[in-house]
Amino acid sequence: MADLLEVSDALQKVLQHAAPLPAIERDLPKALHEILAAPVVSDVDSPPYDKSMMDGYAVRASDVPAIGTTLPISQRIMAGMSPTGELQTGTAAQIMTGAPIPPGVEAVIMVERTASDLPDRVTLNEVPRPGQNILRRAASIAVGQTVLEAGERLTPARIGLCAEVGAARVKVHRRPQVAILSTGDELVEFTERPGPGQIRNSNSLLLAAAVQENKCKALSLGIVRDEPAALRTAIQRGLESDVLILSGGVSAGVLDLVPATLQELGVIPVFHKIRMKPGKPLWFGYLPRAGEPSRLVFGLPGNPVSSAVCFELFVKPALRRLRGENVSNEHQFQPARLANEVKHRSDRPTFVPALWEHGQSTPSVRTLPWGGSADLNGFARYECLVLFPPGEQVYQSGEMVQVLMN
Ligand code: AMP
Ligand code: MG
Repeated sequence: MADLLEVSDALQKVLQHAAPLPAIERDLPKALHEILAAPVVSDVDSPPYDKSMMDGYAVRASDVPAIGTTLPISQRIMAGMSPTGELQTGTAAQIMTGAPIPPGVEAVIMVERTASDLPDRVTLNEVPRPGQNILRRAASIAVGQTVLEAGERLTPARIGLCAEVGAARVKVHRRPQVAILSTGDELVEFTERPGPGQIRNSNSLLLAAAVQENKCKALSLGIVRDEPAALRTAIQRGLESDVLILSGGVSAGVLDLVPATLQELGVIPVFHKIRMKPGKPLWFGYLPRAGEPSRLVFGLPGNPVSSAVCFELFVKPALRRLRGENVSNEHQFQPARLANEVKHRSDRPTFVPALWEHGQSTPSVRTLPWGGSADLNGFARYECLVLFPPGEQVYQSGEMVQVLMN
């Protein structure tokens, strides 16, 4: 097995060929989950003026030396009004949340701490602290300040921030289009009932969903037979997308025609087979193109769990890199406590599906009963993958293990 590529080396090789797609401009309302290709810079101060954080009364601190001071009301200031003249000494200004603070005001006393027996005067039941309930001009953002960096994902809160600072259009990376092609003479459409010797094409559905979950465009090219001419034509179509994911046909079988066909079509092979379980037969290559990052080609093993795990470990980081996210060159693992006993035996590092155990003081995981790379039913509820090193060992409940985090 010494000739097999390690998982960490395989990820590095994949990411070496994955580069962010070119920037495009998007209207802000259509940019949810896009990745910024350029920093966002504010065209305003926020707040644009000193503003009140409360409904209440604006005063000079020196005019309220003691609880129970009564002052005449000299003006009323609503949100949306432009800043008014200086506050007359010895008076209070009634002010609403978000309204501009007049010059001279040192504090705002919230309305709940005041009483007003007559419309033109107010009794203040608090001695104010200078600056209280006042948000100073530019306290949050100064004009010209960078509020978001390239590589950041536009979440709802960040979309709001863009709106606040005048970024009505944003520069984001073009989303990758990902073609998905399932190979195999035994496959029928998922909408059909399989005949003798046939199974439904579950991988195309699983992979298209995984692509969409990662905010890329999925283009399903359906099923292609293990027949050279048909495979060639289908792959040619797939190579029009930024990424081509094939399922099946990369093992050692007589009809595993995918690697040879890809190379005939000019795809440059980077690796075939890695030291892991499930997913050993993984094939990866790229097709250079002028002016844009290379097209990436993943030949995933046909077994559904192998396909899913290979997607998680290698395709997902690549798609995120293409989308412009900052992606580590290494898989991130977190230590966690095993909640159950696991008897493990394998000649390769093995990724086992597991559930997080909630309500524990230490992060804990429970592995799922799982029958291997063809057992999608045993795998389907997984929340995380636990990595077990090669060898034969019984892991006791309570032992620490490594859980894949990205
Ligand atoms: P292969 O990698 O082509 O040798 O296929 C390995 C195993 O995965 C075989 O048992 C196939 O029947 C199964 N398989 C291949 N393609 C798919 C698919 N698209 N959906 C479900 N199972 C598949
Ligand atoms: Mg096959």
